[in-house]
Amino acid sequence: MEKQVVVIGLGRFGRSVCKQLYELGHEVLAIDIKEARVKAASNYSYYAVIANAADENALKNYGVKNFDYAIVAIGDSIESSILCTLILKEMGLNEVWVKARDPHHKKILEKVGADRIIEPEKEMGIRVANQLDSGKLLDYIELSNDYSIVELVATQKLSNKSLVQLDVRAKFGCTILAIKQKGNLNIAPMPHDVISKGDMLVVMGHIKDLKRFEEKGF
Ligand code: ADP
Repeated sequence: MEKQVVVIGLGRFGRSVCKQLYELGHEVLAIDIKEARVKAASNYSYYAVIANAADENALKNYGVKNFDYAIVAIGDSIESSILCTLILKEMGLNEVWVKARDPHHKKILEKVGADRIIEPEKEMGIRVANQLDSGKLLDYIELSNDYSIVELVATQKLSNKSLVQLDVRAKFGCTILAIKQKGNLNIAPMPHDVISKGDMLVVMGHIKDLKRFEEKGF
């Protein structure tokens, strides 16, 4: 389902979020205080505007309070990031996700009501370490801009169903490449293999199809 998302701060992180959301078909409003960044973002957003996101009136003028989600990706000014988060929460936005620069920043963001706090470098560091530690599978591999391989944990909905019953390829256009069951990796799943809750599925497909499978199939 298409979501309305405002992305504030178009540094490396904000740009990347903005581009991906746009490619996934969401309605993205991109905001930055710097003109050059806004100009560049006009290629991958519905609207891109120059504004100071720490200014309540500026955010009001662009109708930000009607958005479903806000991503605050201001890393160069902690003060602006905090103020902007506070304003967005006071406006009544349900989901305000904010990039934090360090633990102090994170603590303050928690206090002003950020719904999710993201620490990109820290989170990616953990992910890379976990992948290296497991030595078997990656939880997410980008094959190209459009295609990926992801690892998904089977829910109750998939439990006790065979691959032929699930018919994932016909219904979602995705291919189940492997099933990890109780520590065993089945790299050549057969149509009558049965999935149990908690199994790890390695699935390949277009990112839109994978998302659909994740949302509707699980
Ligand atoms: P990254 O580390 O992800 O590259 P940066 O912290 O360098 O991100 O980028 C933050 C962005 O936020 C910059 O493009 C900057 O112009 C923008 N920014 C900073 N303060 C404000 C503000 N008050 N309103 C809108 N954008 C802002």
